[in-house]
Order: sequence, then structure tokens, then C-alpha cells
Amino acid sequence: MSRLIGLLLIACLWLTACAPLNSVRPSDEAASPNIGTSGLDDPIYPQLGNGGYDVTHYAIALAVDVASHTITGTATLQAVAMQPLRSFNLDFLGLEVDGVQINDRRARFQRASSELTLTPAAPLADGQAFTVTVAYHGQPQPITDDPALARTYGQQGWLRLGPGIFVISEPAGAMTWFPANNHPRDKATYSFAITVAKPYVVAANGVLIDELDHGASRTYRWAETRPMASYLATLAIAEFEIVTDQGPDGLPIRHYLPPDAPQPVVEALHATPAMLRFYTDLLGPYPFETYGVAVIGDERVRIGLEAQTLTLLGTSRVASEQLHELAHQWLGNSVTPATWQDIWLNEGFATYCEWLWVEKTEGGAAFDALVRAQYASMATRRMGAPAHPPPDQLFGASIYIRGAWSLHALRLQIGDAAFFDLLREWVACYQYGNASTADFMALAEGVSGQSLADFFQAWLYVADVPRLPTLALPD
Ligand SMILES: [Zn+2]
Repeated sequence: MSRLIGLLLIACLWLTACAPLNSVRPSDEAASPNIGTSGLDDPIYPQLGNGGYDVTHYAIALAVDVASHTITGTATLQAVAMQPLRSFNLDFLGLEVDGVQINDRRARFQRASSELTLTPAAPLADGQAFTVTVAYHGQPQPITDDPALARTYGQQGWLRLGPGIFVISEPAGAMTWFPANNHPRDKATYSFAITVAKPYVVAANGVLIDELDHGASRTYRWAETRPMASYLATLAIAEFEIVTDQGPDGLPIRHYLPPDAPQPVVEALHATPAMLRFYTDLLGPYPFETYGVAVIGDERVRIGLEAQTLTLLGTSRVASEQLHELAHQWLGNSVTPATWQDIWLNEGFATYCEWLWVEKTEGGAAFDALVRAQYASMATRRMGAPAHPPPDQLFGASIYIRGAWSLHALRLQIGDAAFFDLLREWVACYQYGNASTADFMALAEGVSGQSLADFFQAWLYVADVPRLPTLALPD
């Protein structure tokens, strides 16, 4: 198929498959009339998110006492009703709710586990814009052992780590520090006004608007003006030094480092502009207004997160993981999975991007050795299907390694030209929105002109790892 026909197909897909997946209408037709559902039927986390409305903006204003580990403040959500609503839910876990207002009128609220049910003084009409303000306070507690949410992923949400506070919410932890429609499908813009005592510094998503000095304390106001999933919203609060740099097209880079950051960490961050250039060439323009890394000043911290515009990493992880986390700014943060079952679209892609960096910086032989070693490790292990993970394997090897290998197999199947076109089209087509595995398969067929149903079935949906008889790969 010619490139021209491929482009026409892509244009058609733009009109169909590229339709924004932002609707949060409940799929449960049996839902009670005029009551928003308490979940969005996610295949992994059916209770996350809520139906009946679409949040457009979160304004989070918190006073944070780092010493006593308490917060007091408000979250103000701007939203639009997607159906008539007598009541609807937010996701919110722990903390004390002091009061709720909807359109400046007091609203009734009830709590059950992580569901905060709100009843406005007057019902909301389908299509009506409305504002919810929740006042709250308390000591945020991370999700640690809730079998329905945390599974084996360790702590999520508002975390006290090393010298400060770092919010790492994937997949469910956002509701530990603000009330939210806590599912990636409902992306929104964010603003933060966070007050802390000196000498603490607050980093958050997006752009620092200003700092207001109150003498003993300061308020940091941040704004993320591009749509963001709730699991990517973050705060990093510690005694930071700020290091600035510049990426492609003048992109402002700001890293937040502990004052005693080891020299290898500082040097590792010198690679950020080159990594940004690599991804810009591979995937298209950087999708956000700024970028940087907030370093968690504790060698023992082994977790991190590609929070939007601000990757969080422990000191020991900066050199090895920034490349992976940076890929997520395009793959996960701009193009966000439609459900948690589609997580290989984040992790398999970011892992394959690491391999492509090896190909670019170390050459074809090093790349070949790497993918063969990964195939060997994968083929000798019992590994599930990337697009159909069980809930306790959401961040397992099948998602990362087999996900990456599925992309490499696709590259071998459709050829380099179509494959690299596909990566760029994928990012351009679904920028700032959500996309599913089905969307990716449709776009791959459109770009390549090949029928790929059997290929994807074998690589993404069957537990056994496919054989690759055309390659001299190790058994
Ligand atoms: Zn990742």
C-alpha cells in the first residue's frame, strides 16, 4: 500500500478511532435514574472513577504542616453533568470532610470507604456546568494494604519519604489527598496553592506561577494547563535546590534536588536535554510546557513516578530510570490509557523506548544483543498476555518486557518506515486524550495497510509467548 493511501486511512481513523474517549457516562444501564454511578466499570478497578459528570479543572489549596504531617484546605472542582444528577460520587479516602458546597450552596454528603456521595441542594441538569468545593483536613494516609486497590504495588498516594513529602499515586492514590473522579479517563487541568513553612519548597505539576511570602511560610502556586490524569498529579515538598536547564525549542527544565545531592545524580541530569531531543525526534514535539525531575533524597527509595511534567525518582534511580520515565510524558501522560487494563500502552512502550535509545547511542549490534537477551528471558519464563493482565500483574514483566517485545515484533512485521510512522501518529492522534489497545491495533492496521488481527491476538492476548521462526533467536 502506498504512503498516500496510508495517509488517507489515517485521516479516516482520525475521524473515527481518534474520537476523544473522555466521556464518563456510566455504562451500567441499570443505574438508578439521576444518580451517577460509583465506578466506571474499569476491568481492573471497577470502583475507581465515577459516572455522570466530567471534571474539567481541579483547584487544590492546602496548608501543609510537614512536622505534624497534617493538611488543611479545599479542593474546588469545575465539572459538567453528563446526565441529570440528583446525587453523584467523588473518590476520597481518609481525611476529614469539613463541608461541601455545590454551586456555592451547602450540599449533603455521605461516606463509605473511598466513595464520597454528594447531594446538591438542587438537582443538576444534563449538560450543566457546576462547581464543587470540598473543605477537608487531617493526616493523609497512603494506600498500603487494601487488597482491592493496592495489591502488590507497595504504597500509593501521599507518602512521607526521606526528607519530605512526595505524592506517588499510580494507580489509585490520588484520592488519599484530594477528592477526585479518580480514573485516567477523566482528565482535567489543575492548579495548586500549597502553603508550607520555610525552608520547605513545593514543586508540583506544570508551571510555577508565583511564590507568596508570608514571613515564616510561603505559598507556592502552580498550574498544569494541559489535561492530566489524577494518578499523575503530584506534590514534592522538601528542602530543595533548583537546577534549571533548557530542552529543545527552549523548553524550560527545572530539577528539584536535595541540597546534598550526590554528584552522579547531578551529572545524570545533564543528559535530560539530549533525552528530550531523542524523544522529540522519535515521537514528536514535547507535549507540555515544562519538564524536570524531583529527586527524593533517600538512597533507599526504590519507587518513582512519571508525574506529569515532573518525574519523581529516588537518588539511586535517577541515572537508570530517567530515560524510561521521560518517555511517559508522551506515552501515558499525553496519550493516557483508556482503562488500567491498557497499561502496557504505557510500560511496554516506555521500555521499548529504552531499547531504541540503546540502538541510537550504542548501535545496531548492542540493540540486537539487548532484544535477543530480553526475548530469551521472556521465552523461558511463564508470562501472561500484555493486554489482558490479571489485577496483581498490572506492573509485571509481561507488561514491560513482553509489551516491548510485542512492539519489536510489530516493527519486524510491518517494517521500520511504517513502524516509526505509527509511533508518531499514535502520539499525534491521541494527544492529551485517552486511547485503548483496540485503538492502537486499528491505527497500526491503518498505517501499515496490513491485516494484523492474528498478529496482535498472538502477541497481546495469548499467555504463551509467540515463536519467531524467521529470526535466529535463542531457544
Ligand atoms: Zn514506566
